Amino acid sequence: MKIFDAHCDVLSQMLKYPGISFQTGSTLHITYEQLLKTGSKVQCFAIFISPCIHPMMRFQAAIEMIDIFYEKILAPNSEMKLILNREDIFSLKENEIGAVLTVEGCEAIQEDLIKLNTLYRLGVRSVGLTWNFANAAADGAMESRGGGLTQFGRQTVERLNQLGIWTDVSHLSEKAFWDVLQLAEFPIASHSNPYTLCPHPRNLRDHQIKALIERNSVIGVTFVPEFVVQDGNAKINDILKLVDYICSLGGVKNIGFGSDFDGIDKTIKGLSSYKDYASLVNELEKHFTSEEVEGFLFYNFAERFPQ
Ligand SMILES: [Zn+2]
Repeated sequence: MKIFDAHCDVLSQMLKYPGISFQTGSTLHITYEQLLKTGSKVQCFAIFISPCIHPMMRFQAAIEMIDIFYEKILAPNSEMKLILNREDIFSLKENEIGAVLTVEGCEAIQEDLIKLNTLYRLGVRSVGLTWNFANAAADGAMESRGGGLTQFGRQTVERLNQLGIWTDVSHLSEKAFWDVLQLAEFPIASHSNPYTLCPHPRNLRDHQIKALIERNSVIGVTFVPEFVVQDGNAKINDILKLVDYICSLGGVKNIGFGSDFDGIDKTIKGLSSYKDYASLVNELEKHFTSEEVEGFLFYNFAERFPQ
């Protein structure tokens, strides 16, 4: 079974703890070894700028994470291949794994589209406008003001359209979500769950999910325990309920996964690192057709990769 995982925070972990090995790193949820053994086909690697990084150092931090991506993820592992377009994904050989650079929050570019252009040239193919709080582009889901896109945010989405890459709506405030949906040509939600099953501000309301489905987009179901069940005591079976729920809204072809591995401290019971995707696949196969499962795990995201 091929797996496309739309979100992980390996790069920010490796920036924080420079000694960690991507090969076998015991504290990482995702390692090269686990990707190879578990059937990874495409892994997205997010550039996430922690709020504790000084504003003047945020672009620098993004560049350092990109350096880690090239030097420690791609260079030593001949089977890891940089993905820049859809053709790169579908021409991966049997034993190869694609790696996609993504941005989680435009803190990295501040108010400068030249920096966005530079990140694109370095390989970034998906951009989320915010993390949890407000920035120059928009308000995040945890910003109490709940504002939409700023003028700079609009320019950013227009630039992403011109570049032909994904605009990621995960983490946006609801108002910013609707603003983005009006403007973005290639919207996705890399890691978000249905609010109806787990009412957390980071999750998506039914009408948001339906709007993404109407736009032929994809929602990456995420393994963050408190976005899965309200008390945070989540089990693998709870992930199936989320998948089932999006199916009930008409989204069987619009479901993917965005684990958020290495971006979370607590994990779901039985889903504590990448290798446990095998257990999830096992459970999915009991409840859905193999064509549906292949779609959730790989094709729904892979076939919508822009260009
Ligand atoms: Zn996130």
